[in-house]
Parts: sequence; structure tokens; C-alpha cells
Amino acid sequence: MVAEHEAKELLREAGVPVPRGVVVRDMDFAPVAELREPLVLKAYGPEIVHKSEAGAVTLGLSRADVPIEATRMLASGVAAEGFLVEEQAPGGVELIVGLVRDPGFGPVLLAGLGGVWTETLRDTALGLCPISEGDARRMLGSLRGSPVLYGLRGRPGVDVDAVVKLLMTVGGPGGLWERLELGEFEINPVIATGSGVVAVDARYLPVGHASHGGQDGVLGEPADLGPHSEPANIPPRSEPTDFGPLFEPRAVAVVGASTTRPNFGNMFLEFYKAAGIPLVAVHPEAREVGGVPAVPSLAEADVDYALVAVPAERCAQVVREASGLPYVQVMSGGFGEAGRPELEQELVAAARAAGTRLLGPNCMGVYCPRGRQTFVGGGLGPAGTVALISQSGGLAGEVIKVGERRGLAFSRVVTVGNAADVTPAELLRWLSADSETRAVGLYLEDPRDGRALYEALAAAPVPVVLLVGGRSAQGQRAAASHTGGLVSDGRIWQALADQTGATLVTSQDDLIGVLAFFQAHGARSADPASQAAGPPSRTADPDGGEGSQSGESRDGALVIGPSGGASVLAADAFDRAGVPLGPLPDSVLGELRGLGLGAGSSLANPLEVPVGPRSGPDLVRRAVEAIVRHRPYPDVVAHVNVQSFFTYGTRAEPLFEYARALAAAQDALPGTRVTLVTRNGECAPPGVEDEVRAIVAAAGIPVYRTMEAAAVAVAAGGRNGTA
Ligand code: ADP
Ligand code: MG
Repeated sequence: MVAEHEAKELLREAGVPVPRGVVVRDMDFAPVAELREPLVLKAYGPEIVHKSEAGAVTLGLSRADVPIEATRMLASGVAAEGFLVEEQAPGGVELIVGLVRDPGFGPVLLAGLGGVWTETLRDTALGLCPISEGDARRMLGSLRGSPVLYGLRGRPGVDVDAVVKLLMTVGGPGGLWERLELGEFEINPVIATGSGVVAVDARYLPVGHASHGGQDGVLGEPADLGPHSEPANIPPRSEPTDFGPLFEPRAVAVVGASTTRPNFGNMFLEFYKAAGIPLVAVHPEAREVGGVPAVPSLAEADVDYALVAVPAERCAQVVREASGLPYVQVMSGGFGEAGRPELEQELVAAARAAGTRLLGPNCMGVYCPRGRQTFVGGGLGPAGTVALISQSGGLAGEVIKVGERRGLAFSRVVTVGNAADVTPAELLRWLSADSETRAVGLYLEDPRDGRALYEALAAAPVPVVLLVGGRSAQGQRAAASHTGGLVSDGRIWQALADQTGATLVTSQDDLIGVLAFFQAHGARSADPASQAAGPPSRTADPDGGEGSQSGESRDGALVIGPSGGASVLAADAFDRAGVPLGPLPDSVLGELRGLGLGAGSSLANPLEVPVGPRSGPDLVRRAVEAIVRHRPYPDVVAHVNVQSFFTYGTRAEPLFEYARALAAAQDALPGTRVTLVTRNGECAPPGVEDEVRAIVAAAGIPVYRTMEAAAVAVAAGGRNGTA
């Protein structure tokens, strides 16, 4: 460990204010004369880690007190090698600022309120280095105790700009994180006042010297776990790869299908036959497998994609024969995830030697309707604009099938399994620039190349939706046995999303739901200026700029549907998702009354409008068009109670009429994103929901079955500036 005064010297050189102080050895306290009282005495030595706990720090001393207090400390058993005597900084708000090395993402900045806030409330914020100034402000603002920074009940706030500058000095571009051999670094506390900051304690443990858990255990296990390291004997590849043929190969080969006992290879062979892509089997003896012509070795297959489904021990040998083939997918498991990293390294070495890119191992492969690539049964779905990168093949299969059922159309889906060679970050980079792709979903259990992932996400011009498995301790154990990955602190993923603008979701359902929103509304401009209707009544937003995280207007969403508890719950759901329901403009109230609204209830947002088998199907459309003319809500969320149509009516037609009217509203409002929630859809006869979905999908309206799912999607849409 580096002594406190040395760590403070590092800070001073970096421009961070630290107290004036002197180091005293051999009990010669003469230099103390130059310091201004009150003084602080701190003992240092290899055995003293937490000075307060060791009785090795005393505040509020006069110059004369210092030698006496030092003698007392020694007498009480403090194992001091020497003393640091420094000026006592005036009181203020104590903050903790630290750096740790996350196993997946590398250097991470931590900021929090010191003392009880950090210790008992774990009130800290994380940011992947380098952070931007906006990130620094967002981190501070996200602290539950942040009001003490900004001023509270007559108490003045602190110099927040100075705190931001400190965070940038530590974690910003060119900051300390780049220069330190980082095991762990911590300023605890830095005292912030109205006139600046002073770092009054600093600890620095270079890599390899890390203690256990950090002083406050804020991030769990730090250090020691470097990011995934490349095996030393594997030469680096030449970048970047064009993944076009991965998704749209001219022809594919399947290695491992059997002529006698059908296995996974045979299953894939059947999927490929059904997809109609030119196909060859690789088999040591047979001339054909399952009606597909066979060759004895990959070396003789004229394809640009090979799927390998042979036992793990034989995969490397097969890959060596793939020389000249751009891509090899190893479906087989039994590598790193099964505790056999050496087998995985051998496989990667074989791929590098053959000059081929390796997908997997332990992965299902690629799905791309346009390229007749598939790993799922039931035929190819429609070609579309949504891409998916998944560390789990099973989950990818579910997202494809369920997503297509719900109207998603995929551009490209790729599963990476253990991602031993081709990584999610690399694929994300390529997909971001792919002209067929407008939104990307990611399912990960492990950042793999976390730094590259951070950079790829930050650079992605398309919206990205991130679902991370293993963010809980229980989930981490499950993920470790699934892909063998080291999972990072769950909160780092939120920091990653906040810093890059990606949407972090917590369920497969929301992954599909948010992607559906981007598919439907991605191309829609919600710019009020492009509204066909008249000018907005609203004047300029007085508090735009830095403080606003989302860039979303305060109008947020207009929620409109039948009255009752559902409206109240809708308001709650949107609140939880962080979407404001801005009030109705006064100027439209008269017009709404003219439509017969507001007789039995008040006119507010959520707006209660009769929607059912006996109400005018057009009412919602007319109300929405009137309101948006006065206030350009970027989102309109219409909800129906499907059950009411079949309790107070018998036919589906009124529901279809409502859907057609809503579609007409969307057509009339190109700058507004209309979303439909079909509550209680299970009460409709079979097929009715699909029909409703089809009617509104034609107008580009996404459909959700719950308000919660719609709220998550609308929030994501707002964050991604499709507004
Ligand atoms: P520890 O090793 O226990 O963390 P610190 O050096 O942080 O020891 O000192 C304990 C507390 O004393 C700090 O949290 C801070 O409140 C206060 N303190 C320490 N040094 C100073 C100083 N120079 N000026 C003002 N307060 C200080
Ligand atoms: Mg301290």
C-alpha cells in the first residue's frame, strides 16, 4: 500500500486540493510550526489500514498538542512508522470518490456521500472510465442524498462544479485511472463546501496489493480479476471483419450429422434444408447425409459458413480443416463453460491458424431470413430491421419465435455462446453500421470484452436494448455454469446503459417490447415542428439542457382510455418508468367538452374517455387529434379494456373499429408515436387480438398487453431521442 501522504502527493500533482501537511519521523515535530491550527495527527505504518478504528487519527489539535498526542498514540499500542500532521479542513459535506477495477469492464469510478450514507445506505453511483462531465453530474444527481449537495432547507449547497472537476480528474479522459497501476484507489473522504473541495484522506493500492473488499466493501471483490486475457500463444487477428457473409452465406456446411443416429447436426441439416440454402454435409465416409450431398472434409466444402456439431475434443481438428472458410460456428459445448478453458484456447488457436472467424463455442448460430440462415424450426420469418446478439442460444430462439408472433421482423440474429473469438462488441459495431438494421437487442451474461463493449455501445448510432442475465448473486451462479463468464457488479450495467444511452431492461418480455417500439416508431419523427397541425401553445422549455437526462420533453405521454382504476394505475406505471404525463393544455378543454367528454369526470391526463362496444369508435381519435394540436405530446398511449367489449357486447367488430380509428389517428399525426395497450386481452375469443394487432401495425402502432410493458417501451423511446 502507498502511504497516505504519497497518495495525496499524487492528488496534488493532478490538481486536487489536499490539506497542507508535514511528515514526521523520529518524533521531530519542528516542521509542524509552519502549519495553521487546528491540526490533525495521523499515524501511518504497514499495519494501520483504517486509522480511525486503530485509534490512529486525532482531530482538533493545537501545535503544542501534537507531540503529546503522538506519544499517547504510541503508548496505546499504535504501530506507527511515522506521522502525518496536517491542517484540519473546515467542515462540509463528506464524499467518497474511488476507483476500482471491475473484472469485466476495467476501471470504474465510484462516487458517493461519505460516512453513514456509504456505509449503511450504499448510496453510491458508478461510472465506467472515462466518464464525461455529463456522466459526472448524472452520477451526483442519482445519489439519494444528493439534496445535501445542492442545498436543502436553507442549508447552502456545495460547489458542485468543484466536485465534478474532481470526478473528471480521477475518472475522466486522461484522468488518474489511466495513470495508476490500478488495484484500488479511494479518496474517503473529500470534504466539499461552498468554496471547493479538499481531499482529506487518500488510499492507493497498486494492482496485486488489493485488500479484501475495499474499505467500505462498496463494490465487492475488487482487483486481481483482470479482464479476459487473450491466450498468449494466439496471434492477434487483423481487424475488422465484414460479417455480411456470416449472415448471408452463399452456402453452408454441417459437420457432425450422422447417417445412423440422428443428432443435433441432423436437426440443423433439416432446418437448413427447409430454409433452402445451398448445403453440404461433412462426413468421413458417407456420400450423402439425410439427402444432402456429403464431402469427407471441410477442406473440400466450397461454402463460407460451417456449423460444427462434433464432440468438444474433436472440434479443434475440424476447425483446422476450415482453412479459407470465413466463418466456423462451433455448436458443441464442453469448453470454458464446463471448466475446460484449455480446450477453448486450442479451438481459438486452430481458428486463427486456419484464418477463419470462430462463432461460439457453445452457441446455436445465426438467424437471418434474408440470408436463409437459421437455427430454429418452423421456417423463416419475415425479413426486417431488428437485430439481436445473444450469449444464449435458447433465449435467442425464444425471442425470435415470440417476437415474430408479436410482429417483430429481424434483420440479423447472432448467438455468441462463449464468445471465444467473435465478441458481442465486435458484432455490435458491425450491426450498428449495417444498412438493414435499425435497432439492436443484446442479451449478455458476461461483458466478455467489456471495454470494447462500452465503446461500441457509446458509438452505436442505432438504439440498443440490453438485457443482462446474472445481475443478482443467484443469477451470477447460474450464468457461471451457463457460459462460464465472470459477471460484473450488477449496478455497472446500469452505469453502462446510462453512459451510452442504451436501454437496460429486466425481462425477455421487455426486450421484445422495447424492440417492437423501436421497430414501429424508430423512423417516426416526433419533432413538433413537423406536426401537420398548428403551432404548439407551449413556449420554450425553461429548464432544458444539462439537467435533463432523457432529452424527453416534459409533455411526456398522453394516456387515454376508459375510466376507472386502470387510469390511476396507468399514471403509476408511467411514473415508475420515468415518463411524465404532462397536464392537458387549458386551451383544449372547451373542445373536449364539445366532444361530450368531462361530464361525469374531470379532464386530465390520463384522460378518461368511454371506450367500449357502445361508445363512438371515433371518440379517441378526435380527442387525440384535438389535444395534440394544442400540445405536441411525443407519445400517445391509448388503452382499451378488451374484456368490456365481450362482456357488454358480443362481437369483435366494435373493437376492430376502434383499432381502425386509432390507426387513422396515427396516420394523421406523423410526429406523434401512438401506442396501444390491449388490457385483459385473454377475454377475447381466439384470433381477435391478432386481428387488432394487424390493424394497428399497418399504421406503425405497437401493441402491449399491460400498461407496465407499454410504459417501459415508451420510456425507452423517449430516451433514445426518437422524439
Ligand atoms: P480513516 O483511515 O479512518 O479513514 P481518515 O484520514 O479518513 O481516517 O480520518 C478520519 C476522519 O477524520 C475523516 O473521515 C474526516 O472526517 C476527518 N479528517 C481526517 N483528516 C482531516 C483533515 N485534514 N481535515 C478535516 N477532517 C479530517
Ligand atoms: Mg478515511
